[in-house]
Amino acid sequence: RIAYVNGAYVPMSEACVHIDDRGYQFADGVYEGVSVRHGKLIDLEPHLDRLWRSLGELQMMAPMDRGPMRLVLKEVVRRNRIKDGFLYLQITRGVAPRDHPFPAQTPWPAMVVTAKRLNFDAVMDRAMTQGVAGSSQPDIRWGRCDVKSTSLLPNILAKQAAREAGAFEAVMVDRDGYVTEGSSTNIWMVTKDGTLVTRSTDDNILPGITRASVMKVARDLQMKVEERAFTLEEAKGAAEMFLTSSTSCAMPIVSLDGQKIGDGTPGPVAKRLVEAYKAFMDA
Ligand code: PLP
Repeated sequence: RIAYVNGAYVPMSEACVHIDDRGYQFADGVYEGVSVRHGKLIDLEPHLDRLWRSLGELQMMAPMDRGPMRLVLKEVVRRNRIKDGFLYLQITRGVAPRDHPFPAQTPWPAMVVTAKRLNFDAVMDRAMTQGVAGSSQPDIRWGRCDVKSTSLLPNILAKQAAREAGAFEAVMVDRDGYVTEGSSTNIWMVTKDGTLVTRSTDDNILPGITRASVMKVARDLQMKVEERAFTLEEAKGAAEMFLTSSTSCAMPIVSLDGQKIGDGTPGPVAKRLVEAYKAFMDA
């Protein structure tokens, strides 16, 4: 595997960063994950828009303009001969002696890009036939979850707890009992009358790129979409649930805390969306 690290394409085994990098010391960085389907970067421009927003919110500088960044991302895909896969891009505030405030002398931001293969046909096959289990976990994150920061400890703890409970994803719930999002996904439910519901984008969730594309696909199919908060209890009584993310596309959640959602199999609305999102990726 080949990685891009601060201006060079290097074998993974030689790819390394400085131990005084603020990404390493403080998780002072941002990232994006972009899926690659048939060699094409899915929703690249919205991902770059979100990256620039994250950088801006953290007063970080971009290490390069969007044009060269597009080229670097495509070059990493090419050098790794990825047809279906996943690109990871991370930018940190750079190298400076460890001290909490931003360094007085702004360092050059560090940027790394890696790529791996991901079998989207298998993901979508699982979505159509099996779906995944969810496990509710308290959302103990900070107040700026709209920033795609590499500081992911609460997400990691939630995902781990979910996995230990035998589930694929954590369904995070705020103090008032409302579902926020998954540990690395956005969460949706389908009401008994067929309306899609997902939390509106505020500083409690990451504005998922897949969330936005699935929403568009759903509206194109004349489905009704409501952006509002819903409680864990409401979700458990829903006709269907599903999650969205770049790696999972649209994935039915067929059980939550061991309780079946609907009949405990991927539902008709979610399956239509899986197929429509696949068509969108393949277009
Ligand atoms: N929510 C969180 C917390 C995430 O980390 C992610 C993806 O990494 C998502 C949602 C889904 O976002 P996207 O659809 O852009 O992959």
